[in-house]
Amino acid sequence: MSDNCIFCKIVRGEIPCKKVYEDDDLLAFHDINPQAPVHFMVIPKRHIASLAEVRPDDAPLMGRLFAKLGELAGSQGLSDGFRTIVNTGRIGRQEVYHLHIHVLGGQEPLGPMLPRK
Ligand code: AMP
Ligand code: ZN
Repeated sequence: MSDNCIFCKIVRGEIPCKKVYEDDDLLAFHDINPQAPVHFMVIPKRHIASLAEVRPDDAPLMGRLFAKLGELAGSQGLSDGFRTIVNTGRIGRQEVYHLHIHVLGGQEPLGPMLPRK
């Protein structure tokens, strides 16, 4: 847990979110600045700063997270597919340093994969 981390504050209920899913380990919520008609993210509740900090001991948690993505996408109507994005570090232009998997969909085409504003 990280005191000043915005996503840890969402996990603790100190900042509201539009919740998609929650269990003991994971939280999914809609992005506040959606880049597609459906845009939510899935995070581990435990603070992991980025994909670069994931360690072998985190494998079960990462497995649970990725095993949940398809079901959650389906629950949001993304039956024809979706895009997942994980921005990492400076080169990845990561803005929030609490690991999050973006899930985007609901429009065709979704747009090019790499450019960011
Ligand atoms: P990035 O770290 O570059 O993958 O992007 C962080 C994402 O978090 C951006 O898409 C923001 O719109 C989103 N975001 C920032 N604050 C909030 C919040 N309070 N609730 C939901 N999404 C947020
Ligand atoms: Zn955090």
